[in-house]
Amino acid sequence: MLIDLHTHSVVSDGTDAPAQLVGKAAQAGLDVVALTDHDTFDGLTEAVAAGERVGVQVVRGIELSCSRSGNSVHLLAYGADPSNAALATEMTRVRSGRTGRLLPVLEKLEELGVGVSEAQVMAFVGDSPSVGRPHIADALVAAGHVRDRTEAFDRFLADGGPAHVHRYAIDVARGIELVHGAGGIAVIAHPWGRGRRRVLPPEVLEELITVDRLDGFEVDHQDHDDATRAELRQLGNSLGVLMTGSSDYHGTGKTNHELGCNTTDPAVFAELERRLGQPPSP
Ligand code: AMP
Ligand code: ZN
Ligand code: FE
Ligand code: FE
Repeated sequence: MLIDLHTHSVVSDGTDAPAQLVGKAAQAGLDVVALTDHDTFDGLTEAVAAGERVGVQVVRGIELSCSRSGNSVHLLAYGADPSNAALATEMTRVRSGRTGRLLPVLEKLEELGVGVSEAQVMAFVGDSPSVGRPHIADALVAAGHVRDRTEAFDRFLADGGPAHVHRYAIDVARGIELVHGAGGIAVIAHPWGRGRRRVLPPEVLEELITVDRLDGFEVDHQDHDDATRAELRQLGNSLGVLMTGSSDYHGTGKTNHELGCNTTDPAVFAELERRLGQPPSP
């Protein structure tokens, strides 16, 4: 049984439509796939319907933009109710921050001599309600300023880079609370990827688990090397937390993140489903 719990469609910054992504999941031999677009539930209806057609179980997910002490933390939520008012309000605030950040980033890029217009970026955003840096990266590629998304991030857009602009994100402890309040399960994505170990050292992960009731974290992710995975697994075992493995697939938007390149242990997924079957704890 092959389970991949973290993927992105064109509804955020992936390149496949939700139904197309689920079709590819079936072709890749996956039994279960979670669609976890950034800060939006919009692709889930289409993905679930496609899953019923092709015989893949689609888990309803999102990847919520959170922060800890001003640093970005990504929180995966499974089974959260899209109609929960408190969560929906915060997600609207996050998406507004994404939209509002665009022009300041474009001003910085202009100053750096690699200008692109708002219209050039919006051509890649399309109908997505969740404007992301990868869309800006795509415009930079199309304008010939960089070769690919990776170069756009490395030279301009990465956190702390010359064209980086801060945007609103939800304090991660509050994010966990919101997800639980909406009946969902909260799992930190790539906790030690891309320099995040500094933001989420073992004592902070322990606090999020014991005090804030975080359900789990990703261990098998392409941003974690083998040594990092081993350390995280040891920590997770000692804390008795759910540990997942996922691709973080973005279609052609991210190389080396193919569907099913990492998977989640069926026993872990069974426990996740069991928790989802229970009413949220007070
Ligand atoms: P944003 O949602 O606008 O904060 O952009 C974050 C997204 O950009 C992540 O979900 C990744 O998909 C992508 N990303 C972040 N860092 C990099 C990087 N160094 N290279 C390529 N893509 C990246
Ligand atoms: Zn993404
Ligand atoms: Fe992420
Ligand atoms: Fe992701």
